[in-house]
Parts: sequence; C-alpha cells; structure tokens
Amino acid sequence: MRIDICFLIAFFVCMELVFIGISTYRENRKVMFPYKFNVKVIKCEICSYVYVVSPHTVFSKCPMCLSINKLS
Ligand SMILES: [Zn+2]
Repeated sequence: MRIDICFLIAFFVCMELVFIGISTYRENRKVMFPYKFNVKVIKCEICSYVYVVSPHTVFSKCPMCLSINKLS
C-alpha cells in the first residue's frame, strides 16, 4: 500500500513535469516563430516596391519612397 502511494505520487509528478514541458515548448514556439511566418507582403502603390510588414498594422510606410500604404 505504501509503495503504491509512492508510485502514484511519483507518477503524478512525472505527468506534471511532462505537461509543464509541453506547455513550455508550445509557449516558446509561440514566442519564437510568429514573426517568422506572420508577415504580410505589401506592394507599394506608388513605386511598386515589395516589402513585408506585420499583419496587425493598418498602415505601413514604404521604405523606398516613404509613402503610406493602407493594408487591405
Ligand atoms: Zn513606395
């Protein structure tokens, strides 16, 4: 009986560690990769220069001609 309780405690501790590891791994992926894949390709209406911006911005400034482009 005593061995069973010890085994259960060890089992739950291991499970908790696995869950912490998985959630930490997911958080790290969330933190590290959004900027790599979450970009929007914008073509400037004035000079046709193509550049990338964050999809959360509404207006973007063209790095070539410095005109403001609205994201559709
Ligand atoms: Zn431009």
